[in-house]
Amino acid sequence: MKIFEFTEKFPDEQSCINHFKLTREKEGITCEKCGCEKHYWLKGIKQWQCSSCNFRTTLRSGTIMHGSKLSIRKWYLTSAFMTMTKKGISANEVKRQLNHSRYESIWRMMHKIREAMGKRDGLNILEDMVEFDEGYFATGAPESTDLKSGKGSQKQQNVAVMTESVL
Ligand SMILES: [Zn+2]
Repeated sequence: MKIFEFTEKFPDEQSCINHFKLTREKEGITCEKCGCEKHYWLKGIKQWQCSSCNFRTTLRSGTIMHGSKLSIRKWYLTSAFMTMTKKGISANEVKRQLNHSRYESIWRMMHKIREAMGKRDGLNILEDMVEFDEGYFATGAPESTDLKSGKGSQKQQNVAVMTESVL
């Protein structure tokens, strides 16, 4: 995906929120408190509410964006920068591109994205979003289950890069 296509697809924060919400719902929302998977979306406060115990799950909870004050669009855009630039992009450059004042929060965001990208099983959202250049990230990671190394169980989590647990 080119920057131009990115800005067409994600012109504003709302389009990113919608995309992120749908992607998480595709993965399935599980109630932290009771394990129930049935949720209602509370549009006004942008949270899911568990249908059995009413516990609320925020859009970012349980994801690498948890606790971050950066907009979802900045996360998306940075992920796009990082995948579009084969040689990598510095935190300073991202900071400049995003017109963001704090270097540290950019650096931390990039660190988390890089970490999540390293777990190749967790690329769903980004694949969907930026259509990885195959030379950089082969799309469609092998489905093979390697029982010896336990990779199969990791695959089971099938967490998207943005929904990677912060723990
Ligand atoms: Zn619940």
